[in-house]
Amino acid sequence: MSVELLINNRETPGASYVEVRDPGRTEDRVGRVAQASVVQVDDAAQAAHAALPGWAGTPIAQRVELLRAAAAVLDEEAPKIAELMALESGMLMATCQAEVETAAHVVRDNADMAAEFLQPRQFADANGWVSVEKRPFGVVAGIVSWNAPVILTMRKLAPALACGNTLVIKPSPSAPLGLAVLLAKMAALFPPGVINVLHGGADAGAALTAHPLVRKVSFTGGGKVAGIIMRDAAASMKDVQFELGGNDPAIVLDDVDVEHAVTRIAIGAFRRAGQFCFAVKRVYVPESIYDRFFDRLSAEVGKFRIGHPLDPRSTMGPMNNRAQWTFVKDLLARARAEGADIVELGELLDPQATNEGYYLRPTLVRRAAPQSEIVAVEQFGPVLPVVAYQDEAQAVRLANDSELGLGSSVWSASRTRALGIARQLEAGMTFINQAGASRVGQRHAPFGGVKQSGIGRESSEVGMAEYVEYHSIHGDAL
Ligand code: NAD
Repeated sequence: MSVELLINNRETPGASYVEVRDPGRTEDRVGRVAQASVVQVDDAAQAAHAALPGWAGTPIAQRVELLRAAAAVLDEEAPKIAELMALESGMLMATCQAEVETAAHVVRDNADMAAEFLQPRQFADANGWVSVEKRPFGVVAGIVSWNAPVILTMRKLAPALACGNTLVIKPSPSAPLGLAVLLAKMAALFPPGVINVLHGGADAGAALTAHPLVRKVSFTGGGKVAGIIMRDAAASMKDVQFELGGNDPAIVLDDVDVEHAVTRIAIGAFRRAGQFCFAVKRVYVPESIYDRFFDRLSAEVGKFRIGHPLDPRSTMGPMNNRAQWTFVKDLLARARAEGADIVELGELLDPQATNEGYYLRPTLVRRAAPQSEIVAVEQFGPVLPVVAYQDEAQAVRLANDSELGLGSSVWSASRTRALGIARQLEAGMTFINQAGASRVGQRHAPFGGVKQSGIGRESSEVGMAEYVEYHSIHGDAL
């Protein structure tokens, strides 16, 4: 298959094309994707800009109706698109289908809250009145990573469109196909120019970030690129919102229900082969229960069956791309060279075939040194260091000793104890006895991180507020 650019609801051939390969069998080509030139980046920004007055002026109720129709597209496409998404990303088919279904909820949640959120607030006293109104930024650039492309995009698209902005989306070259198919179907519901899709890598992203018609950049990806975007956006004083990496600590307390914790932590760390921003990335376990906990966690992680994402027996697929795969392998090699106790687990379904893709077995690091590299950096792969601690104050100190602060979790039979620890953690999100957001959490809880894990939040009214400017209109007393 070939995916083109989408500008003004017209499929537009790229200046060049790149191949998308199956990370589970790198010999296989999944499709090809158009790459935008700088001129085409300008065309897309101009198209979004031209569509702005019409879209911002469309009654909210109508915008919301179109968003509901867009959510229905996601519902309908979820089972059909899962195979393509799995082939290009390396994620399991069930994971891909669930991602699109969850993305439909995200769109509906935003549709549900838009009308009330966008109401102006009016105040008056004897001296005058003021109306605090919310208006769109204008053209918003949404730039996303590959690891959960549909949900990451919908978290930007839905609130941005609900608030009357128009969009230029740039998917990642590492998983562009499924997202592009879905966006084309969704865009067809909206007036031309409201949703534009540009493909490409750093060049297209940089041209978009620097474009004078773009008023806001909403970015999900790594901190290094975020720094470049911040610099490029500064020249035209654009607003930026960043959802970046995490190095989420899980603090296990000595009264934990070990069985419950190990099953949840195993999934929380190794789902998507560890390639998601708020995966559990390091675990702190009290010395008093360390060996028992580690053995049970090993047994749980040992249940993963590693294979091709289309193989129904697989419970873990490959990593998405060579660069990330190499990064994690090198990280492990350095840890091993430093004497770390690396425990590779899980069953390779077809050991021969795993040489054909970017596979890694789920790996624990027993009694990882608290300051070691493998604990200190975001691995973004199927690796989990487990650190022993002496007392809770030390565990909190170690957990907070990071420039990243996205998610975190606390595991205890006592809600009071867990809450006490949770409130000391420097993170945007803390999960108690779970490692991921529930439906209610996804709807109501701001998603994002502190320190170098991001700027701003997604989801909830707080996330929607990222897509409006405030306009205060003042008047005399009537
Ligand atoms: P990345 O930063 O390499 O790329 C992200 C996007 O930016 C891609 O679309 C890429 O083409 C584009 N890009 C690259 N250079 C650019 C430039 N100079 N200007 C503009 N755009 C540019 O990240 P990645 O490897 O795709 O994703 C992995 C990272 O994303 C991890 O750190 C992960 O934790 C983070 N992430 C965060 C969240 C979150 O919600 N906090 C969610 C998913 C992933």
